[in-house]
This record gives sequence, structure tokens and C-alpha cells, in this order.
Amino acid sequence: MGPKDWEDDPLQNADYAKYPFLNDVSEFIRRSHFDFEEFDRPEMKDIVDEAAKRIEIEVDGKVYPDLDRFQKEVWTFLASLMMVKSLGIESIIRKYALFEAMRAENFLADDLKKIKDQNKIHLLLLKVFEELFKVKIKADHDDMRFYKVHVTDYLKRSSHFHEQEWKLINRMVNDGYVFLDAEETVRLFRNELSALIYDRVKAMSIASLPTSIKVKVEELRNSLAPRYEYRTYAVTEYPPCVKHALEVMGRGENLPHSARVMLATYMLAIGKQTDEVVELFKNAPDFNEKITRYQVEHLAGTKGSRVKYSVPSCEKLRNENLCFATEDCAGIINPVQFGRWKRQ
Ligand code: SF4
Repeated sequence: MGPKDWEDDPLQNADYAKYPFLNDVSEFIRRSHFDFEEFDRPEMKDIVDEAAKRIEIEVDGKVYPDLDRFQKEVWTFLASLMMVKSLGIESIIRKYALFEAMRAENFLADDLKKIKDQNKIHLLLLKVFEELFKVKIKADHDDMRFYKVHVTDYLKRSSHFHEQEWKLINRMVNDGYVFLDAEETVRLFRNELSALIYDRVKAMSIASLPTSIKVKVEELRNSLAPRYEYRTYAVTEYPPCVKHALEVMGRGENLPHSARVMLATYMLAIGKQTDEVVELFKNAPDFNEKITRYQVEHLAGTKGSRVKYSVPSCEKLRNENLCFATEDCAGIINPVQFGRWKRQ
């Protein structure tokens, strides 16, 4: 049984299996009166094991690629939500939410490219974008490779991207709509999907954990927690802007690009080595060691242009809403000056 069985719907259960966060799937779970204790049944062992494996892969910074039949996907997703919730480690929740979002993004981009049935596409757009994010996305009937998003909705989301290709001036715009291909359309919503999954974890209320899930949570805690628990930073002597950025990183939250540049250039300026700076970013939900190392080396001037980047001025940081000045900041124009008078 699945959503397909209780509604007149051109989407198949195999389609719903890819998107277990959809409202229809939540409704299916509600109607099935599934009791969490059922995870202790022997036939659910595979699902519980699979959920734990999925979390380990995602926390490792990879997209979990396997896709099974509808019911297995739904219970695996539910079991993984319960495990992540019970682990209660903020950085793990954020990483899990991001890589679950990226997994769905891959399926959705593929569906938007391959499905030829217009009713099906329309319904998918409705169920994902309109029902979850209250945004209307339309298929471009003149060229089936493209989707249309209203300029206002586009700008609200693309302003977080720094690549030139997302600037409105570089997009095809007509009649108030921005045209995007399937990959771009779903990429635009990654942060919102990730936030939706994060909120689902946070909102979950579990009166008592089934034994099978409890055992897996303890195994995961033993293997994953040590990676996160040591990563608390000594932040007291840093300027408030840097301290704030470190606190955000410590919570495993996403830091804007400009704040990452400020953090890295500051750390390099006070003499930290590339390895130590890269280490600071390991809590970021989208952390990729290779890319981070390249970027830090670029800022340090050891790669690329060979120019060492300066720490942005306090004025620039104020304009970017990255300044959290306290009275100790009086009279300084760059974060590297912070505390100097105290140290002299
Ligand atoms: S005044 Fe400068 S050092 Fe102080 S918080 Fe703002 S940007 Fe940072």
C-alpha cells in the first residue's frame, strides 16, 4: 500500500519512494497507524540496519544512492529520522538534513528531465514546490528542457549563491519568469529542503525508543560522536565577529561565504597553518576537505594567484552584517587589531 492506493493520482508508489518527506507520505504514515515498536520485529532488521548505514554515509559527506520499493523507503526514512533525533548532535542533524536534501535533489532533477507525461510533471511540481515551499514552478511548454520560476521567487533564493551563473543578468528572463533547467530548478531549493528535513527531525516526539533503534543509536554514537565532540573552539580571545562565526560553525550551521572568507583570512593572519584552518570548517554541513583546502590555500596565497588575501575591514564586515561589535572593538578598523592594546 502507498499514497497511490488511496488517491486518484498519476504518480506511482515508486515515485513517492524517492520523496518520503512529501505531505502525502506523512499522511500515509499517519493512516497506517504504524507503531514505532514495530521496528523491533525481526522482518524490520534490514530497514533498521539500512537506516543506520544511510546516516553513516551522509555524515561522511556523501549522498546515499540506493533506492528501494516504497514501503521500505518510507520506514527506512522514518527510522533514520528517529536515530538522528535520538543522537541529538546538532552537526549530525544538519549534515543528515543536507545530504537527504541532495539525495532527493538528484531524483527530482532526473524525474524532471525524464518524465514525459505532463500531468505527472505538473503534479510533481505541485507536490514538491507548491505544497512544501509555497512556490509555483511551471514547465515551459515551448521547450520541455526548461522550467519557469517567478523573478521574485528566484531572487529570494539565488541571492545566497555566489557563482556568476546565478546572477539575474546571466539568466534567460521573459515575462517576469526566470528559465532554469531541471538541475538548476531543484538546486535553487536545496537549502529549503534541507531546512524542511531538519525541522522534521527537530519536531519529532518519541515517547520511547524501540530497542532495535536504541541499539543502533548507541553504535552510531560510539562511531560518530568522537568526530564532533572535540570540535569546540577556544573562542574567548577572538574579536566578536570571528567568535560569532566560530560559534555558528560549532553548532554545525551553514556560514555564508563572506563569513567563511573572514574566518579563514583572520586565522591565517594570526599565524594559523592551513591544516588548522581547514579543521575549523569540518563542522560545516557541506564540508568537502579537498575544496576547503584549495580555498584556504588560495586565500593564503600558496595556490592560484599567489596573493595573500587580507582580512576584510570592520567597515566591510559591518556592511555584510557580519560585525557583532562590543565595547572592546572601540577604535579598531580591522579585526586583526582586536585586543592588541590589551596584549601590549
Ligand atoms: S568592529 Fe570589527 S572586530 Fe569588532 S566585531 Fe565588528 S568587524 Fe569584528
